[in-house]
Amino acid sequence: MKDILLRCASVDGSIRLFCCTTINIVEEARLIHNTYPVTTAALGRMLTAGSMMGTMLKSEKDQITLQINGRGPAGSIVVVSDITGDVRGYIANPYVDIPLNDIGKLDVGGVVGKNGVFTVIKDLGLKEPYIGQVPIISGEIGEDLASYFASSEQTPTAVALGVRIAQDGKVDSAGGFIVQVMPEANDHTIDLLENNVSNIKSVTDIISDRGIEGLIEIVMKDIEYTIHEKKEIKYRCNCNRDRLEKALVALGSKEIKEIIDDQGQAELICHFCNKKYQFNKEQLQEILKKIIQD
Ligand SMILES: [Zn+2]
Repeated sequence: MKDILLRCASVDGSIRLFCCTTINIVEEARLIHNTYPVTTAALGRMLTAGSMMGTMLKSEKDQITLQINGRGPAGSIVVVSDITGDVRGYIANPYVDIPLNDIGKLDVGGVVGKNGVFTVIKDLGLKEPYIGQVPIISGEIGEDLASYFASSEQTPTAVALGVRIAQDGKVDSAGGFIVQVMPEANDHTIDLLENNVSNIKSVTDIISDRGIEGLIEIVMKDIEYTIHEKKEIKYRCNCNRDRLEKALVALGSKEIKEIIDDQGQAELICHFCNKKYQFNKEQLQEILKKIIQD
């Protein structure tokens, strides 16, 4: 089963719904980053949010980055997506194991922490990227994202993000939805939607029992809707040698000289996919030349 993202709206256009399954995406992230169950859940919720927000972008060149850092033991979590909904991410400290929370679930809020901000960066090809930031509410991510939509984009939004981990540590269900109420929505529709959303206990149970279509039927119960887009989404990194070379250039000439003198070579590892890039002495000297010429 592939991961699927669906974009739909009520027939009158007053309700917008994005929903997706991310079982493969989160499982791939787990394998890349060696996350423990609770950090798999935290990174997985971020990846799920990032994918849906990517598909809200307007142009193929646009890029969106979500970052949460609440000074918890997991450290910063960053995910990047674009209009395709394909997504990549990393977590500063994947090796965290803490007890379940009060309701017996993986304590995502506990590993993320609450002392910090949730940041959304949209690179829309303009001179400066758009940056929106809200204080973290719970660190559970869904709630923090809803707070971002309410305060930065003035759109009432309900968010549900979930990752369920099997006994063996593998991801066995993952996905979520973002549902937004446009200003023209009437009270009756809003009441229906609020009722539908508040009745949802577990988004991962719905996905594993009834699939993505089942999830839409539950969120949009008694509201007429149309599906506008359905597509496959995946974990995808777009790193390449050029990008990593730019990272070396950014270190500056002093640092590069030190690497040449001390190690005689450099190995850079992509944060998002763990791919390794080697630079030998000659290549480092070329980079140094370029920096000095500029
Ligand atoms: Zn990469």
